[in-house]
Amino acid sequence: MKEDIQNLIELQTIDLEVYKIDAKMVNELAGIDEKQRDIAADRDSVNGYQEQLEVGEKRCRELETIIADELERIKDRQVKLMNIQTNREYQSILKEIEDTKTSTKHNEDELLILTEQLESMQSRIVEITQKCDDDEKKLAAESKTIKAAATKLENKKKKIIKARNSQAKKVNERFLKRYETLKERRNGLAVAGVTNGVCQGCNMNIPPQMFNELLREDSILSCPTCNRMMYHKAEVSGEE
Ligand SMILES: [Zn+2]
Repeated sequence: MKEDIQNLIELQTIDLEVYKIDAKMVNELAGIDEKQRDIAADRDSVNGYQEQLEVGEKRCRELETIIADELERIKDRQVKLMNIQTNREYQSILKEIEDTKTSTKHNEDELLILTEQLESMQSRIVEITQKCDDDEKKLAAESKTIKAAATKLENKKKKIIKARNSQAKKVNERFLKRYETLKERRNGLAVAGVTNGVCQGCNMNIPPQMFNELLREDSILSCPTCNRMMYHKAEVSGEE
C-alpha cells in the first residue's frame, strides 16, 4: 500500500507539471488574443470616426454652398436697393438683406465649429492609427517570442508525458481509474497531502480518527470534503 501511495504521489507530481505547462501556454496565448482584440476595437473606432468625418465633411460643403449663395443674394439685393421706387419695397428688401445676413452668421458659426470638430477628429484618427500600427508591430514581435517559448514548452511536455506514461503503468489499476476521474473533476489535483490534519486540496480538517488511520498508510483514504485521495504529508520546516 505504501508503494501504491508513493506511485500515486509521483504521478500527481508529474501531472501537475504538465498542468502548469498547459496553463502557462493557454495564458500566454490568451494574452495575445486579448491584445489582438484591443487592436481590432481601436481599428473599429477609427472606422467609426472616418464615417463621422465623411458626414461632417459633406455638411461643411453644404454650408459653404449655402453661405456663398447667401452672400451672392445679399450683393444682388444691395444693388437692387439703389433702384427702388417705393419706401415699402425698400423696407422689404432691406429686411431680406438683414435676414440673410443673420442666417449667414449662423451658418458661418456652424461651419467654424464643425471645422474644428473635424480637425480634432482627424488628429484622433491619425493618433489611433499610429497606436494600432505600433501595437501591431509590438504584438508581432511578442507572438514570435511566445511561439518559440510554446514550442520549447511543447517539447518539454512531450518528455514529461513519456515519464508520466511509464509512471502511470506503475500505479495499481483500480487507483489509476479513480485518480483519472478525480483529476478531471478536481482541477488536476487528485491526490492531496494532509498536513496537521488539514487536507491541502480543500483546506478542510479531516476527523482525527481518519487522520490516525491515514498515518498507518494501510489504505488509500478519500477526503470527506473534496473526495481527493489523501496521504500524510509532514510539515516542512521553513515553510509557513
Ligand atoms: Zn480535501
